Amino acid sequence: MSEPYRRLETQLVHAGEPLPRIAGAIEMPIFQSATFEYAGEQRYDDVRYLRSNNTPSQLALHGKLAVLEGAEAALVCASGMAAISTTLLALLRSGDHLLAQRSLYGGTHELLTQEFPALGIAVSAIDATRPAGWQAQLTASTRAIYVEALTNPLLEVADLPAVVAFARAHGLIAIIDNTFASPVNYRPIPAGFDLSVHSATKYLNGHSDIVAGAVSGSAALIERIRHQANVLGGALDAHAAFLLKRGLKTLALRVRYQNDSALTLARFLAAHPRVRAVHYPGLPSHPQHERARALFAGCGGVLSFELHGGVAAADAFSARVRIPAIAPSLGGVHTLLTRPATTSHAGLSRAERLERGISDALLRLSVGIEATEDLLEDFGQALAED
Ligand code: PLP
Repeated sequence: MSEPYRRLETQLVHAGEPLPRIAGAIEMPIFQSATFEYAGEQRYDDVRYLRSNNTPSQLALHGKLAVLEGAEAALVCASGMAAISTTLLALLRSGDHLLAQRSLYGGTHELLTQEFPALGIAVSAIDATRPAGWQAQLTASTRAIYVEALTNPLLEVADLPAVVAFARAHGLIAIIDNTFASPVNYRPIPAGFDLSVHSATKYLNGHSDIVAGAVSGSAALIERIRHQANVLGGALDAHAAFLLKRGLKTLALRVRYQNDSALTLARFLAAHPRVRAVHYPGLPSHPQHERARALFAGCGGVLSFELHGGVAAADAFSARVRIPAIAPSLGGVHTLLTRPATTSHAGLSRAERLERGISDALLRLSVGIEATEDLLEDFGQALAED
């Protein structure tokens, strides 16, 4: 009989869930237990213990995420940064070199530029949208190449097929942070990436109520990363695992709605006389619009924009909108608005931000699942002349 869970929406609900159902419960129970009875395990990594990432809730998530990502295996971690740091530390040693996209998420940027040099791991920043410069930065010690599906906050789209081809040609491990796209809009593993990491805090969970992380890839790479995770200790607890698995079930419904809502808001903002610039790959004005159309099923729920009138206008707008909460993070059901210079990118110097095209006045919007019409009306009143 053919596999009944063939399409994404069905996989989100059913893949990885225990069968037969435990005591008939439609939703898998929460196993609130740190340790489990010894059952003859021989290896340290197999002893059933929450930090060893092999408890029932973790295993169910691993099974579900692997199916969603089209990967052999997956691992959940205590946060996106736990997934990213554990993955990179499992693969890189002192003396190794990493090629990494220039405008990475702030926490990842700090890990690579502040922590890795002290560990003897060298990192070179590349313009991931233009493959022409990559070869010159390759060294005999280069082990991996690291990019994000869509960058924060300008939504840059790297030349992802070229990243995969370059990694193949030079024997590098190709790693992508797929947080902003989610497997609904882009599936990196079937596209040739070796590893896909996520801040599962964002779209995968989708409700802004936990932090979590995930990494997917081949069974051999995930086993290496799991061993590293067991030693570093950033394991996802049982209750957060339950919430993540529950959130995942509605991922496709949420993300597709957010794709549409963000595109509608981006068009509205782009046509508004008080708006200076809108950054959203779904708009033809975006420099990688054609690439985004070719690669992604949708461009996600995050966009950024600038108003005429600088920081004062941005702050006045933030004070006048009524639906969005003024808060960092993204990918949840609530619409969130933030000024990256004061939140996600406050760790960079002003000069570093400007070099990356992030002005002080830039606003980033993560569109939730509220009615698009309500958001349009709210934005309209907040932009109206006094
Ligand atoms: N990767 C991206 C693209 C992010 O936006 C974030 C958080 O904002 C992270 C990783 C880190 O995730 P977490 O906050 O779950 O550790």
